[in-house]
Amino acid sequence: MIKNEIKTTCSYCGVGCGIIVKKDSNNKVLVEGDKDHPVNKGMLCSKGMNLHYVANDVSDRILYPEMRWSRSHPRERVTWDEGLDRAASVFKSIIKKYGPDSVAFYVSGQSLTEEYYIANKLTKGFIGTNNIDTNSRLCMSSAVVGYKKTFGEDSVPISYEDIELADCFLITGANPAWCHPILFRRIEKRKEENPEVKIIVIDPRKTDSANFADLHLQLIPGTDVILYNAIGRCLYKRGLIDEKFIKEHTEGFQDYKELIFKTSLKKASKLCGVEERDIQKAADIIGVSKGFISMWAMGLNQSVVGTDKNVSLLNLSLITGQVGKPGSGPFSLTGQPNAMGGREVGGMANLLAVHKDLGNEEHRREVAQFWGVDKISPNPGLTATEMFDALESGKLKAVWIACTNPLVSMPNTHRIEKAMKNAKFVVVQEISHKSDTLEYADLVLPAAAWLEKEGTMTNSERRISYLPKEIDAPGEARPDVEIFCDFAQRMGFRGFNFNNASEIYDEYASMTKGTNIDVSFLNYERLKNEGTFQWPVPEYRHPGTPRLFEDKKFYTPSQKAIFNLPQSTENTAVQPTGEFPLILTTGRVRDQWHTMTKTGKVSRLKTHYPTPVLEINPVDAFLNKIKDGDISEIKSTNGIVRVRAKVTDTIKKGVVFLPMHWGKQLQSNLNRANNLTNTHVDPISKEPDFKFTCVSVSKYKKP
Ligand code: SF4
Repeated sequence: MIKNEIKTTCSYCGVGCGIIVKKDSNNKVLVEGDKDHPVNKGMLCSKGMNLHYVANDVSDRILYPEMRWSRSHPRERVTWDEGLDRAASVFKSIIKKYGPDSVAFYVSGQSLTEEYYIANKLTKGFIGTNNIDTNSRLCMSSAVVGYKKTFGEDSVPISYEDIELADCFLITGANPAWCHPILFRRIEKRKEENPEVKIIVIDPRKTDSANFADLHLQLIPGTDVILYNAIGRCLYKRGLIDEKFIKEHTEGFQDYKELIFKTSLKKASKLCGVEERDIQKAADIIGVSKGFISMWAMGLNQSVVGTDKNVSLLNLSLITGQVGKPGSGPFSLTGQPNAMGGREVGGMANLLAVHKDLGNEEHRREVAQFWGVDKISPNPGLTATEMFDALESGKLKAVWIACTNPLVSMPNTHRIEKAMKNAKFVVVQEISHKSDTLEYADLVLPAAAWLEKEGTMTNSERRISYLPKEIDAPGEARPDVEIFCDFAQRMGFRGFNFNNASEIYDEYASMTKGTNIDVSFLNYERLKNEGTFQWPVPEYRHPGTPRLFEDKKFYTPSQKAIFNLPQSTENTAVQPTGEFPLILTTGRVRDQWHTMTKTGKVSRLKTHYPTPVLEINPVDAFLNKIKDGDISEIKSTNGIVRVRAKVTDTIKKGVVFLPMHWGKQLQSNLNRANNLTNTHVDPISKEPDFKFTCVSVSKYKKP
């Protein structure tokens, strides 16, 4: 017997597929794609369709709070009162002795909007520090800066429905066939039904997305800016630009034109490792298209020149006038399910709620007034990598980590281990014992998971959805908002006495009134009864906004979009040397999600990639005496990884690839790709570079 059918949203990627959840007669959860949902129309990828295994299997779940009274003792079970009282007492005493900037919170793009909002209100409004950042820093912060610089605000202009209207897709630094499968399925369908639709993929790897493309530009990692500028130059030379749009709706074109003519096509081709004729062909396809969509993800964002890559790509939409019209526009693909919602409520160290900026005095005053506090500190908050640097140096004393596993996901994980050991007090708010980060926790707080709590999320296309609570959390696990609010009250702060998540959403929504992300007419009742909405929703009867900038009025002071010039044209941090001659790029595999604390529980998701492998080109394998299936030892200045080699010509010569999911709890410390990655960050977005680490590779010989 099937009972209690509810509608919700997938908890994995930013595509945000609709899911119908049912329970069988044994109260076990069943899932299926929601045929009426505008995102997936009933489809689910391998991860989504196996979500019921994750929900039904609680064998790995943390069931009650655990605490250690000193580092020389193991953690033991405590009550919620004991755990949260101790947390409040330690935080108060550290803040009293060292000031509010000596504590920090590190949250996640998987947190619900209400959780993000409350954690930020607590930190920035009441504790008095801006030291709150998110693992979305590792994912989307370069795109945020790109949008702000180009359009004046962090605003994704288009929707998935534009896919069915476009005739040219430039997919760059992304492999949506694996990482955003349902979105990619829509692109495939668009092309199957309209063979004249063209797809260009830019990637150093011949991915499944590249296999489907009409044109694959297999560039050398880090040379993206040169390539985009070369495409811009070809567009200009062939007269394939929109002069009217440029003149009436943009600023900075003259400087951009001078920049793109500084590098000849021949030189760009050599630097990027891409044939001149292919660059020209890409420009021709883009230039004659009526609907041009660029799509990108971590290949652009996770770079020391992530901001430059983003603005250079956005310039291609401006030069062709392909913004604010059907089937056209730039579209950053969000990795996590609620990275967008987090940005709305100011979930980064440099942001405030409602897309306000911490660096703006007036914005700080407005937010302080709304929360009824004297002021928001003007001190810049620590971003993700800065936070762990500060723990290592001792400047930061305590950290509260919620819903993320930095011991696997942060770059240079040996350094993160040192930082965590050096912390005076570590709180980890988590669902699973499989998180490697638990090893360093003084206090572990069991959190409720998907279906065990209610809240909202926003997907990549600005679509807000309501996620209901359907099952009880195991043991004593509690919803994250409850944990944060309880802690805030034990710290003696007012303004956290909410009866439920709905009241938290209402508080945030009222803050958006009159802004570019206005959702003040939305509430849980409407989201439950009327379904999802894309912000802004500026009037009560407004259906939501699938496409921004149709009036060509951008959010800059002049209302014009801005051509920004990259400060640097290629990765300048480190280049391959004799000792470390290969470029390591890291990424994801199709059936795993982040650090595998959820997907790692599902045996059928392990069949695709049972273990991590190193992808290496046959020429590099030959030069390094490695055969397919050998255990390879990969070294960088930061550490070592040992995994089997997969010799394949799908990867460019000079480049090797490792998946990022595996941590030591799941297999071995030596499978962890981030043992190798460096801590270089983009100077503006502060996003780390996971796509360019110089390494050596050899066959591992047992001593
Ligand atoms: Fe979930 Fe993303 Fe797969 Fe959709 S594409 S089912 S949101 S993981």
